[in-house]
Amino acid sequence: MDEFFMEKAIKLAKLGEGKVNPNPLVGAIIVKENRIIAQGYHEKFGQPHAEINAIESSRESLKDTTIYVTLEPCCHYGKTPPCVDKIIENKFKRVVVGTLDPNPLVSGKGVKNLEKMELKY
Ligand SMILES: [Zn+2]
Repeated sequence: MDEFFMEKAIKLAKLGEGKVNPNPLVGAIIVKENRIIAQGYHEKFGQPHAEINAIESSRESLKDTTIYVTLEPCCHYGKTPPCVDKIIENKFKRVVVGTLDPNPLVSGKGVKNLEKMELKY
């Protein structure tokens, strides 16, 4: 199922194409018992990141959910506070990340901040 949801997150990420430059395209999906309960993507440069959009659009409790993010969540202050803090705060059961961030400010550090993070693909 991980592949299935990650694929969906990647499709979602592409909706931001042409609007988030120079930021990368990112999609996030929150899954509870194999059901998507919330999703988000990075819609526009300077606006909240995908993870935050997904977290904030959820109308259900995030307890025991898995979040799929196409890119490692950021851990530094840019235009927005670090997403990794928000993810830790919400105590996801699993965090599945598609790829590490190529930005040297972030790469691998977001992952280190998350105990339960799983790197896939
Ligand atoms: Zn972020």
